[in-house]
Amino acid sequence: MSFSSLVKKELCGVYGAEHCAAAEIAAIVSVCGTVNASNIRIQTENAAVAKKYFRLIKKQFKLQGDVSIRNSRQFSRSRVYSVSTPIIEKILNAEKKGGFNRECCKRAYIRGAFLSGGSLSDPEKAYHLEFVNADRQKSEYLADIIHSFGLKARIIERKAHYIVYLKEGENIVDLLNIMGAHLSLMNLENTRIVKDMRNNVNRQVNCETANLSKTVRASVKQINDINTIARIKGLGYLSDQLEDVAELRLMYEEASLKEIGAMLSPPVGKSGVNHRLRKISEIAENLRGGFYD
Ligand SMILES: [Zn+2]
Repeated sequence: MSFSSLVKKELCGVYGAEHCAAAEIAAIVSVCGTVNASNIRIQTENAAVAKKYFRLIKKQFKLQGDVSIRNSRQFSRSRVYSVSTPIIEKILNAEKKGGFNRECCKRAYIRGAFLSGGSLSDPEKAYHLEFVNADRQKSEYLADIIHSFGLKARIIERKAHYIVYLKEGENIVDLLNIMGAHLSLMNLENTRIVKDMRNNVNRQVNCETANLSKTVRASVKQINDINTIARIKGLGYLSDQLEDVAELRLMYEEASLKEIGAMLSPPVGKSGVNHRLRKISEIAENLRGGFYD
């Protein structure tokens, strides 16, 4: 199931107060409804949306919707669900009057608009959420409601339809929250976190590989020097201070200078260890050069 369908499935189970039901019904009608003198009819290919609309009008207006199902095209598997009811004056009036002023009802309006005309891209690929409507004014009304929550929504025209759309993960997360799609919101956040982490980990791995190879290269050279001394003179040739460091270096090939310093007694800081290892290197160089015979 697409991410978009999952969001709709969740929203079908979200019910607000009775006044909110009117707003949600109005939004659904504004997208996929036709209104004539005696009745209102909505049509959708999404069975869950038809079911929700049916329940909303039953709950809010005690009306029994008349449901019909047909194939959308010949030989096509997708079906169109229609629900018709007598005219619901209250909804038409509310919308004409410029609508739904309570915040809860605005949320419900956005929810209804998304259920009937919205879609959301797969967040793995892109952050894009849109609402389609054939009517410019209705699209502007929806955009205004979205703006009232402090979110950026734009309108474009596409094939005789108006698209209200939102970009950016953060905007979309906020909108899911406003509509009450909390589960989808968490899924989207998880995807965002994993995406961010993947990017960070890649950066960090590159960085760490560079650092690690530097440490390893240094360690290999130090061990080489110590072995030279051990071969030519024996480690006892070194002062006690240097011998301790040399032994720890041989025992812990991958330890950092700081870690080696902490293992000495008394402990020595990183620069102290560095100083001693440099001394060891000098001695090894001199031994190789034939001094100290
Ligand atoms: Zn309300």
